[in-house]
Amino acid sequence: MPDAGANLSGRALNHRDVIILPGMIEQCVRCGAPAGIVMSFHYQGRTLWLDDLTEPVVPGRGYAMCEHHAGRMTPPVGWTLVDRRRTIRPLFASLEVA
Ligand SMILES: [Zn+2]
Repeated sequence: MPDAGANLSGRALNHRDVIILPGMIEQCVRCGAPAGIVMSFHYQGRTLWLDDLTEPVVPGRGYAMCEHHAGRMTPPVGWTLVDRRRTIRPLFASLEVA
């Protein structure tokens, strides 16, 4: 009986684990929890953006936030909040635009 599959047996599977470097772990500026969202802003354009946190936050350019606090984010009067997160998450409170 040919042992065609013998070379596959006993071989460890290669797992491609996602490696998160310690320096890339951002913490929520509000509560210190691991952050998955970054809030950036543009003063002159009076615009806030919420994005998925995919790269280290540049100090002064944005703030890391956890989902809880990003979901509760309310823009200042006269500002526009733009949610550009890819993952659609139910918000705890819907924003009412006057
Ligand atoms: Zn938080």
